[in-house]
Amino acid sequence: MANIQQRLPENVPGDFFVDATCIDCDTCSQLAPELFHDHGEQCSVYRQPETEAETRSALMALVACPTGSIGKTQKHDVHIGIDAFPSQVSENVYFCGFTSESSFGAWSYLIVRPETEGGNVLIDSPRYATHLVRQIEEMGGVRRMLLTHKDDVADHERFARKFDCERVMHAGDGAQRIGVERILSGEEEFQLDQDILVIPTPGHTRGHVVFLYRNKFLFTGDHLAWSPARKTLTAFRSVAWYSWARQTESMSRLANYDFEWVLPGHGNLQHDSIQNMRYHLQSCIAWMKTVR
Ligand code: SF4
Repeated sequence: MANIQQRLPENVPGDFFVDATCIDCDTCSQLAPELFHDHGEQCSVYRQPETEAETRSALMALVACPTGSIGKTQKHDVHIGIDAFPSQVSENVYFCGFTSESSFGAWSYLIVRPETEGGNVLIDSPRYATHLVRQIEEMGGVRRMLLTHKDDVADHERFARKFDCERVMHAGDGAQRIGVERILSGEEEFQLDQDILVIPTPGHTRGHVVFLYRNKFLFTGDHLAWSPARKTLTAFRSVAWYSWARQTESMSRLANYDFEWVLPGHGNLQHDSIQNMRYHLQSCIAWMKTVR
């Protein structure tokens, strides 16, 4: 619960505000860029919502915030924000909201599909929030949980217990230690089912993998994201914990695949044509090679 006494001075006056507990995960500024922005080390409200749709966006940010750092001074039905999650990204792919502080506000996604296609898939772990769990249950539960890397596992154990789902993760990121049921190894791509391909992408961490769904949706964890500033795909040099050189190699391998969506754990998501994604990926690889 945000504290009005700790309201950041960077907020514009008015109803919604961010307090001093903000960890600068950028979830709010990505979810409601018309209201929240990153002013430096933290985020703040730079414009108050004026319409019903904008108020809904602000309430969604409030619910998604991992640290409860977004507050409001007026009375609102918070269920408008709560019930908005999982929120549709495109087709049968949803953003879970309810990010977790333990994964620094990383975004997690839900693929909703019939049992005949393998059932629902959760990619990385949201916060284990009762409302979200209930909503996911109503959407068919979780058959599999795909974990891109060790930083974004959050409440994986509770979700696995609740939905009795199989967790999938690479051995290089300590999958055995955290009790994962299906442990991947090596650096070859792996067809998990008819629609999901696992592509090992060591770099950010040793056992990082990305998941490609239907040659369209690429769930990239902390490997690849969109840069609104540079208007192209990017990677994060400062958090290449394992090896930037290996991450650059992994990025080059991604050039062999078709995708239209980049859905990261951290950073902005992006949708474009396969051709444009190829172009932006090449530009990202070229840029990575110039960075030491
Ligand atoms: S979502 Fe919360 S923690 Fe993340 S940047 Fe916004 S206010 Fe800060």
